[in-house]
Amino acid sequence: MDKQPHRFAGPPGQEDMPYLLTPGPLTTSRGVKAAMLADWGSRDVEFRRVVSGIRKGLLDLAGCDDSYECVIMQGSGTFAIEAALGAFCPKSESRTLVVANGAYGDRAAAILGKLGRPVVKIDKGDSAAPSVEDVTRALDADPAISHVWIIHCETTSGIVNPIEEIARAVKARGKVYMVDAMSSFGAIPVHMGVGMDVMVSSSNKCIEGVPGFSYVLVKRDMLEASKGMSHSVVLDLFEQWKGLEANGQFRFTPPTHALVAFHTAMKEHAAEGGVAARGARYQRNAQILIRGMRDMGFSTLLSDNQAGPIIQTFLTPRDKNFHFETFYEELRRRGFAIYPGKLTKRPSFRIGTIGKVDEAVMNGVLKAIREVLANMKVTDLAPLEG
Ligand SMILES: *Cc1c(COP(=O)(O)O)cnc(C)c1O
Repeated sequence: MDKQPHRFAGPPGQEDMPYLLTPGPLTTSRGVKAAMLADWGSRDVEFRRVVSGIRKGLLDLAGCDDSYECVIMQGSGTFAIEAALGAFCPKSESRTLVVANGAYGDRAAAILGKLGRPVVKIDKGDSAAPSVEDVTRALDADPAISHVWIIHCETTSGIVNPIEEIARAVKARGKVYMVDAMSSFGAIPVHMGVGMDVMVSSSNKCIEGVPGFSYVLVKRDMLEASKGMSHSVVLDLFEQWKGLEANGQFRFTPPTHALVAFHTAMKEHAAEGGVAARGARYQRNAQILIRGMRDMGFSTLLSDNQAGPIIQTFLTPRDKNFHFETFYEELRRRGFAIYPGKLTKRPSFRIGTIGKVDEAVMNGVLKAIREVLANMKVTDLAPLEG
């Protein structure tokens, strides 16, 4: 037994810190953390081998044939989103349709607005998925739309959008199809071949790496045609690609530790059984969490056929003793950091079911929630309206 009691019951490698039940940064394996215990030179041959291994591995994972390229961009997921929007979305004449059903769709539309790129938006609120008809109606009504941007798993609520069905309708009309698969890639199958021209994701989601970079998978001909399109020097996807192709190096200092950790995370992903096994583990996490929360009396924002395995949204209980801040702090004290803010319009809170977490962790957070509710004297878990 340890003489000094841990403050938290945290994950291996950080026993004194909580599990992160958030959609990134998330809990990583001990192996991923250990991979960062060395300093790599960004121009050394070993490091360049890691970078090229990551680029190739990501293309394979997305089922890309050799007409696609992978460009890695420093920064969080939004950096690759802004880089991709700036590289590919038209500046005039034609415009981009953003299919939004949550904060990340709204953000993509806001970035296009800031860049001065013509944009129209379908807004489905934050608890409904767009249908094929929603998209085809918008496309058929406005022939000036040339590009479509959509989110795979809208992490605002956790809803999973039907990107493959919509891909077929978009490609049938000859439009460019771009997908933010940030929070799904690695756990929900993504096949670029169904008609995806561009896909964006980042290091700290379902591959279970640490934050530091994001990446764009894109048709090579689109990348070649994007020369000079970017509004930015650092976010210029074409120039970033040229740099990586010329000598395997980044133009500007790369997050070496995050890249090496991600390389290990990709090997662990494959060893677990790839996308299918990772998705199945997250699905089990989600089922255990949702069942346990419903047993206590909580309601979910989404119905079971809408909710994906990534993050679960629970409606805030109406009991006047329920204070989210206390709830959050008390759970954290017990070793579980849930998502500390709400993004949906209805009062709600979210618990992530991704990262290096399993049934035992889910049962642990459920037990902690029961304790905290009892201490807070919360008994009425029917949802707060409004
Ligand atoms: C995490 C995430 C992003 C990127 O957010 P960052 O904070 O920039 O990493 C974008 N879209 C979705 C759907 C996400 O889940």
